[in-house]
Amino acid sequence: MNAEIISIGDELTSGQRLDTNSQIISRRLGDLGIQVRFHTTIGDELPDNISAFKIAAGRSDVVIISGGLGPTADDLTREALAEAFDRPLEFRPEAMEHIENLFKSRKREMPERNRVQALFPETSTIIPNPHGTAPGIDLQVEFPDPVRSVHRCRLFALPGVPAEMLQMLEQTVEPRLISDLGLGSQRWYYHCVKLFGLGESDVEKVIPDLIARDRIPRVGITVSKATITLRIAALAANEEEFTRLIQDTLEQIRNEFKDVIFGEGETELNDVVQDILAQKQRTLSIVEVGAGCWIGQMLSDGFSPSSSSGLKHLAWLPTLLADSDPKQLVELAQKYHRDSSSDYVMAVGFYPPADSLINEKSLPTTDLQVCIIGPAGRIVTKSQRVSGHPELFYQRLAKTALDMLRRELLSDQ
Ligand code: AMP
Ligand code: MG
Repeated sequence: MNAEIISIGDELTSGQRLDTNSQIISRRLGDLGIQVRFHTTIGDELPDNISAFKIAAGRSDVVIISGGLGPTADDLTREALAEAFDRPLEFRPEAMEHIENLFKSRKREMPERNRVQALFPETSTIIPNPHGTAPGIDLQVEFPDPVRSVHRCRLFALPGVPAEMLQMLEQTVEPRLISDLGLGSQRWYYHCVKLFGLGESDVEKVIPDLIARDRIPRVGITVSKATITLRIAALAANEEEFTRLIQDTLEQIRNEFKDVIFGEGETELNDVVQDILAQKQRTLSIVEVGAGCWIGQMLSDGFSPSSSSGLKHLAWLPTLLADSDPKQLVELAQKYHRDSSSDYVMAVGFYPPADSLINEKSLPTTDLQVCIIGPAGRIVTKSQRVSGHPELFYQRLAKTALDMLRRELLSDQ
């Protein structure tokens, strides 16, 4: 079964407001096992609405529309549905009663214009909106189809207000989809494995059979801010069945990637480092040389200054590294190791500094520099050449340093 999501409003097509409804609806339909194949966004123009509805109904089994159900002249969803599918609008007294009661309970007079919200395309049913004046519309349409003899499409129109839309989706649309379209009791479950230190194509090369598109369970690769996420997905009746279904796949991933995996679930590198510091009761000082304060920002969240483990000292030095020799960072780290009495000191910087590369005509390139000094005075350094957009260098440096620290902490007895 496949679906299309349609979002309506000039505020969306002009870029003034982000279409968050499509994201939420897509995720929830996906969880029900319905594949969303199209997202369509249209402005408040009647002919555009009519043609978008016709196209969607012709190619999808389910269409979920949000927006355009208000009482004003630019709210055209009712009219467009009526015209697109030749179902004239009719007055529904039960919808009118709900709208009038809502105004009464708010001790306000109902404007005459709100009467249009009680108009529904013939044969459609009402989707109750407990907390708003705009009821939704549930309409089934049919077309002759050369392959299946008839193509049926179920359209649900919901108001644009995200909170009302979500409530109606949960309370009415999803139960109707499950019962009327025979979706059964299974839904999609997900489990994420997080990796750092390999490129996307390196990961793909290691597990080509796991990421084949027709495999069950499915494994998808996404990259965001230098972190790779392997998302294992399967349809299951409950959490226990899902855990059983993915067991072999998960084992295979853990065996292939070992310590390149820094965590599972919704965790990030900074969370993992925070957890290990707390577990091992270790303190940390960070020195960022002309590199913004990325690592400090990522780590300071969740640490209290008085705790016996965690972030003890944070320095951002507005100086720059003089060259790509790690000596300068090592000296700085040693100084802070003495002065701060932290168990760990991590010093980081760029050579040349990322800021100076913003207007570079040729491919911006820099060396990420990291130096970590541990409790027994053990020094590890890393210098790694990276190129690309300078804005991305900060994340790369922060994650490279945090991953090095994670590995040092794990071998710390
Ligand atoms: P409407 O139902 O078109 O009158 O929209 C009511 C409110 O919901 C407006 O403030 C819109 O900006 C907001 N809205 C409409 N569609 C969306 C959407 N797809 N995502 C987020 N907000 C929306
Ligand atoms: Mg609107």
